[in-house]
Amino acid sequence: MTKITIKLISLILLLGSSYLIGERSLNALTNDRLKLEYFHETPVNNLKCTDQPLIANEMIAIGKILGVKFMRGRPLMEGKDATYKALHGRLGLITLSDRAMSEVVRCKLITHEFIHVLQHLNGDLKGVKPLGWVVPQGSLKRFGSAQEAEAYVYQNNAEIVLKLLLRALSIQQEAVN
Ligand SMILES: [Zn+2]
Repeated sequence: MTKITIKLISLILLLGSSYLIGERSLNALTNDRLKLEYFHETPVNNLKCTDQPLIANEMIAIGKILGVKFMRGRPLMEGKDATYKALHGRLGLITLSDRAMSEVVRCKLITHEFIHVLQHLNGDLKGVKPLGWVVPQGSLKRFGSAQEAEAYVYQNNAEIVLKLLLRALSIQQEAVN
């Protein structure tokens, strides 16, 4: 949904968060680990938002452990139902509109923003780098950027995104231990 805002963070944003695990460990998350190829082997086995919208809750839970903040409220960009604010060197903040919405819509919005989180990890938290996922021709033009094209095209693919977040978490834990 969003253009990503990259900002330097203040020290206050570090307090009370799991960011202290550190940037170095997350840098171990190389591009290869976020490729879709692994999942292409079993595409039909991966649940979509339209199958099981409550997967979004697991995504939020895993995201929080990783260091992504999540809140309901007013998204940071006018006219958007959700935004991800990427911070330089740190995982950022997802804001989801508090307007009434169906579970499926909510799931897609959350999946969309977590795709931006994966792109942020892919950019070593210094930028938001496309994952290299295949998108239909014309998507770049339609959605304005490679980042948005990936997020819109795959926003129904909740379980795949959840699995990638779990993978990111396991890499982060490996690096800490
Ligand atoms: Zn977006």
